[in-house]
Amino acid sequence: MNDTSGRKFEFFDAHSHLNLDPLTKEKDEIIKTLEEENIGTITIGTDMITSKDAIEISKKSEMLFAGVGLHPTDVENEEFSYEKYSELAKDPSVVCIGECGLDYFRLKGDSSEIKDKQKEVFKKQIELALEHDLPLMLHCRPTNGSMDAYEDVLDILESYMNTHCAKLRGNSHFFVGDLNIAKRFLDLEFTLSFPGVITFARDYDDVVRYIPLHMILSETDAPFAAPEPYRGKTNMPHYVKEIVKKIAELKGLEYEKVKKVLVENVKRVFSI
Ligand SMILES: [Zn+2]
Repeated sequence: MNDTSGRKFEFFDAHSHLNLDPLTKEKDEIIKTLEEENIGTITIGTDMITSKDAIEISKKSEMLFAGVGLHPTDVENEEFSYEKYSELAKDPSVVCIGECGLDYFRLKGDSSEIKDKQKEVFKKQIELALEHDLPLMLHCRPTNGSMDAYEDVLDILESYMNTHCAKLRGNSHFFVGDLNIAKRFLDLEFTLSFPGVITFARDYDDVVRYIPLHMILSETDAPFAAPEPYRGKTNMPHYVKEIVKKIAELKGLEYEKVKKVLVENVKRVFSI
């Protein structure tokens, strides 16, 4: 762990990509802003190269942490190496394994083979998280009008939970699931994080209101999915403030309280 005992975070963006273009070109500027405003973020790897970059970037500031993993849409481009990711996971800046999970959004026709491959790589990353005693940063994206990828991820997690309940933990990033899916994650004591979409789409209002505040994390997924009033622009980790504001508004809770609890949540889940 980075020594952040004396560090007070005002906000925390649990999932961003300072390792991806165009943020990586502007990262020195962005890190300066994060330090000035006391905003922490976890740079999340999506493959071997961006996972290594995430670790390297996280050395630049005590506001920064790293996640290492292979994104489900990348399992066709990279052969998952347990040994290599295990080496990366030993780095003290690494606070989670991921993003990993299942993504069925763009699959067409008979996709059973690629789904099996995604599941196999996901299970290996669960094993990795258990071995290193780290939480998972989950990416789940179902096909339109369905909860299929969430259901499969939860079936897998629930089967592991029978044998590893004390150690298996994590967060479901960019949560777009329904209330039933949310309940299943909460039963496993997984947190759910919400990005900028909640500021402009009304589809998530009920689920944000339903989930207890201590089980919610704020995230940006920058450079993607900028919140209001930055829609259409490149998203930035410090825009996480807009998401915190929206969560407070939707839950009808005091902004200062929500801000504080969301930081406490991320510190608890990732042992920061
Ligand atoms: Zn991401």
